[in-house]
Amino acid sequence: TKWVYTFGDGSAEGSAKDRNLLGGKGANLAEMCNLGLPVPPGFTITTEACNWYYANGRDYPAELESQVDAALKHVAKITGRAFGDPEKLLLVSVRSGARASMPGMMDTVLNLGLNDETVEALAADSGDSRFAYDSYRRFIQMYSDVVLGLDHEVFDEILEDEKAKRGVELDTELSATDWQAIIVLYKARIEEELGSSFPQSPKEQLWGAIGAVFSSWMNHRAITYRRLHDIPESWGTAVNVQAMVFGNMGETSATGVAFTRNPSTGEKKLYGEFLVNAQGEDVVAGIRTPQNITEAARIAAGSDKPSLEKVMPEAFAAFVDISGRLEKHYRDMQDLEFTIERGKLWMLQTRSGKRTAKAALKIAVEMAEEGLITEREAVLRIDPSSLDQLLHPTIDPKARRDVIGVGLPASPGAATGEIVFSSDEAEEMKSVGRKVILVRVETSPEDIHGMHAAEGILTTRGGMTSHAAVVARGMGKPCVSGAGSLRVDTKTGTLLALGQAFKKGDVITIDGSNGQVLKGAVAMLQPELSGDFAAVMKWADAARRMKVRTNAETPADARMAHSFGAEGIGLCRTEHMFFEGQRIVAMREMILADTEKDRRAALAKLLPMQRSDFLELFEIMAGLPVTIRLLDPPLHEFLPKTESEIAEVAGAMNVSAEKLRLRTEALHEFNPMLGHRGCRLAVSYPEIAEMQARAVFEAAVQAGAKTGKPVVPEIMVPLVGIMKELDYVKERIDQVANAVMGETGTTIEYLTGTMIELPRAAIRAHVIAEAAEFFSFGTNDLTQTTFGISRDDASSFLETYRQKGIIEQDPFVSLDIDGVGELVRIAAEKGRQTRPGMKMGICGEHGGDPASIGFCEEVGLDYVSCSPFRVPIARLAAAQSAI
Ligand code: PEP
Ligand code: MG
Repeated sequence: TKWVYTFGDGSAEGSAKDRNLLGGKGANLAEMCNLGLPVPPGFTITTEACNWYYANGRDYPAELESQVDAALKHVAKITGRAFGDPEKLLLVSVRSGARASMPGMMDTVLNLGLNDETVEALAADSGDSRFAYDSYRRFIQMYSDVVLGLDHEVFDEILEDEKAKRGVELDTELSATDWQAIIVLYKARIEEELGSSFPQSPKEQLWGAIGAVFSSWMNHRAITYRRLHDIPESWGTAVNVQAMVFGNMGETSATGVAFTRNPSTGEKKLYGEFLVNAQGEDVVAGIRTPQNITEAARIAAGSDKPSLEKVMPEAFAAFVDISGRLEKHYRDMQDLEFTIERGKLWMLQTRSGKRTAKAALKIAVEMAEEGLITEREAVLRIDPSSLDQLLHPTIDPKARRDVIGVGLPASPGAATGEIVFSSDEAEEMKSVGRKVILVRVETSPEDIHGMHAAEGILTTRGGMTSHAAVVARGMGKPCVSGAGSLRVDTKTGTLLALGQAFKKGDVITIDGSNGQVLKGAVAMLQPELSGDFAAVMKWADAARRMKVRTNAETPADARMAHSFGAEGIGLCRTEHMFFEGQRIVAMREMILADTEKDRRAALAKLLPMQRSDFLELFEIMAGLPVTIRLLDPPLHEFLPKTESEIAEVAGAMNVSAEKLRLRTEALHEFNPMLGHRGCRLAVSYPEIAEMQARAVFEAAVQAGAKTGKPVVPEIMVPLVGIMKELDYVKERIDQVANAVMGETGTTIEYLTGTMIELPRAAIRAHVIAEAAEFFSFGTNDLTQTTFGISRDDASSFLETYRQKGIIEQDPFVSLDIDGVGELVRIAAEKGRQTRPGMKMGICGEHGGDPASIGFCEEVGLDYVSCSPFRVPIARLAAAQSAI
């Protein structure tokens, strides 16, 4: 088996197509070589080797060592150097590289191959002993941290002590002899901590690093990240070994990162940061504040530090040229890493750049306009779930801003919340329904869970490419980074700003669009969905087959959904309408009634209220289909529970508490979700269904007369399992329809259908379709009843199931395609057998989940229905699944 692929000097054994085998980084390094770009030569150990490693008790395949040796020789030949040879010193970097970029895994070891002997060679070679010893101590630090598992703080301590002793503040003020002395201390400390000395053999160092990359695939952080991003464990990671080039060889050397377009706004301008005389990780680590790459960006940022354009014009020109070529070649915005060694530019990485939703839209639209991609490709470029970010509020421009600090606008959107200083606190507070802002000096991959839990993230250190900034953008959370005027004191739990001390629990607001940190809560504005958003949505609408409706019952929700592009209502849960104002009183009277006559009297009070509710919905939806579901929940949900509530309600209703209590007790059920609910209510008390049907029909007549557009209401019967249930209820509905038509002299077109939310209904769908004119898949209940897992109690153990790998995803969030999906597929087929072309949709939570929407397209449903804020997501996901 071939486990190792080489690249360098204008050619490579792999290419961008080999992403699965070589990982993203390895495949793109190969591709850049094939394009003739300056890439330090090296080789990639495949992801298959990683899988072999885990399949064989963390061992290596037999041929791997000789293949690595051969590849090292290949690199030696190109560079004219040799690994481990002090005469012609070759140093390497070792980096991980999975198919998808994955923070949390071992990232990088630089300067590998240095030891007490070769460091002298490096000093002689470069003519710079300070550089050589600085490189060696960096290597010791990094290697000890990521390979030997020694916390970097032990070295920080030594370094701080030594600097203090010498009365210097910056690392750059230390001389070669200073570093030599520090290295002696470092090594002694390693012996002390680990009981063994720092490995001197370059070969041993290399295999240690390769093993560390493979092992990091299974570390806790990587596992968490994979779980959050649905990355399968079976992908494995590749290892990239590459000849070192040095960005820290003095003032003509530098290192940096850049995006071919602005990853925050999408603006078509090269955007990036660099540091002179520094090595790779310095930029991302946020220890020194980086400089802008272009002069324009420097001016815009008001920075007094010179741009790359100014200090190294030749390398800058070469970089601009290459970045343009790479963007054209990949036809996407690229995220680049580069190093300049004594004036010569080297490319270390290219990949599709992470971006905010706003930037993704702008880039897709502009690239389509530039002719670089098609409109359909533009639609495919946007992650539907990311649209959520655009639907976030921004600060009302008219609001008063009490600014207490300013940092970088690292991730857009505004957020308000209580201050917390640790990720665990963030998670705890979130679990009890509090909104928090995570405030940190800087974040690390250990903070992922806290960042998830927080509304927004604020850091006092780090640039636009710091961990906090990159991860927050990926998550779509507002983030302000590097707010240097603020001080976090973790010991006392305070945030110091402008002489004021803020404690945990104090409310602040961050504005990720301009970097401001504000005191207290601030008025927010709803987002405007025009411009690039509208353009992509238009292309998406042209490409999709399925309609998108909304689940809504209040006029406010219906209006919101309509403005987001909903093409009707797929589910109006009428019970939600009974909890408001006078409605609940009449509802309770109805439930307490002893006879049908009394029940009808109470229902007569409800009729006008229901009618006006429906009328309003019909008017908002102006001619679009509206599906109204008959009362679904068990009746006891409408009655008071505690003694004091019972007493209060009894008083207000003028009935005895005793009567109310008895009725509540009589209605008690052990499993309400499997109890007297759904169509079972309509079978027991048909007068309820009749009242609701009458309200619907009368409202339809009125709305038709008012708007001139006839409404075709769809009346939906919930929780049907037996065809005769539906038959029975439908007969009542038809009678009411005829009556209303007679009374008003207007013909009403309407449909009566059912939800498919019980396995029996799915299996008997061909029979149920004899009575049902449409199906709407209620996948919430269908998931509950198929798994036999209560939707209200599932959260207490489903997370454990996920962690133990028993399920990959919560089936209440993303449709279980194999099981519940199979029932949907069967029911759809059977339904169409009886009633060809029958209208079918989905109205469970899954109607707004992109993966589930893909399944709905496959099964050929006519529409999906989801909550208002997910309507744009569903429109895009439906388009993508149709392309
Ligand atoms: C369902 O069961 O999927 C559904 C939409 O109904 P509800 O969530 O109201 O039970
Ligand atoms: Mg249901």
